[in-house]
Amino acid sequence: MSKIIDGKKLSKEILQQVAVEVTELTERGGIAPCLAVVLVGEDPASQLYVRNKIRCCNEAGIRSVEHRLSSDVSQPELNALVDELNNDATVQGILVQLPLPGHLDESAIIEAINPSKDVDGFHLLNVGLLSTGQPGLVPCTPTGCMIMLEKVLGDLSGKHAVVIGRSNIVGKPMAALLLQASCTVTIVHSRTRDIAALCRQADIVVAAVGQPGLVKADWIKPGAAVIDVGINAIEVTEADGSVVRKLVGDVDFAAVEPVAGYITPVPGGVGPMTIACLMKNTLSAARAQSTTVQ
Ligand code: NDP
Repeated sequence: MSKIIDGKKLSKEILQQVAVEVTELTERGGIAPCLAVVLVGEDPASQLYVRNKIRCCNEAGIRSVEHRLSSDVSQPELNALVDELNNDATVQGILVQLPLPGHLDESAIIEAINPSKDVDGFHLLNVGLLSTGQPGLVPCTPTGCMIMLEKVLGDLSGKHAVVIGRSNIVGKPMAALLLQASCTVTIVHSRTRDIAALCRQADIVVAAVGQPGLVKADWIKPGAAVIDVGINAIEVTEADGSVVRKLVGDVDFAAVEPVAGYITPVPGGVGPMTIACLMKNTLSAARAQSTTVQ
């Protein structure tokens, strides 16, 4: 098995499986899943993410509807749209693309989404279900990381995992999932002393920081699995003097790859898995809503 975990290939397999299960669900009389994506403003990165999500919906046989709102939309207007989607029986998943412009209250919008349609898994109810080990909608990025880890390592029980970063959307749910899989979990962050020494003890390192090349080769125990969540746009000067923009992760890939047992590339690692897991969540939401109405 290659030591580079190919998120692109694995995500394609997931999308194909979701497409099969969508067909099975609808043939059994269940609801055909539909994802509503809400994009506020013109942020180029958000526009790209939304385009990719909609493309994956097509690949997974999931209907999608896109709602584009101007960057000066008011909180009541955005709330009204979320309300409308909550009450729309033809919509099973709602995703409000983050970040939102500064004048909007992100937490309030997340809490306004019906938890059973919260395919990002950010609603407090879903956060609570995850942290108490009960079934709910789980954030997509950590789910994708777990699929990759289990694919290469099998049972994770007893392994020591270090998660770098403690955000609500990646670090904390990642730690919760690793704990659920019976790992011993250490969470490190910007105030942690000697992160390198803690990482060196780990069988699994998940970096979700947003700092290009932070994780160095001497942070990694030989053979450890390294999952790089970071997506950082940097400028690189080519041999001919031209400057190009490149996406890199939080891990110094060239230096860490020879030491690691397994490693994810950026791009082509966690990114495509995140979107594939969004499709899985939309299917799960449709399944759960089908049970409710049948
Ligand atoms: P946040 O900025 O919300 O959180 C970053 C975390 O990293 C914080 O907990 C922060 O600590 C910690 N941190 C910052 N600097 C250091 C440091 N020098 N050493 C140790 N810890 C540090 O980011 P996100 O969690 O939202 O995202 C992290 C990265 O993952 C970003 O690059 C983002 O683009 C990417 N991402 C990728 C996704 C994908 O699909 N591949 C999906 C989501 C995010 P503290 O809390 O103390 O400030």
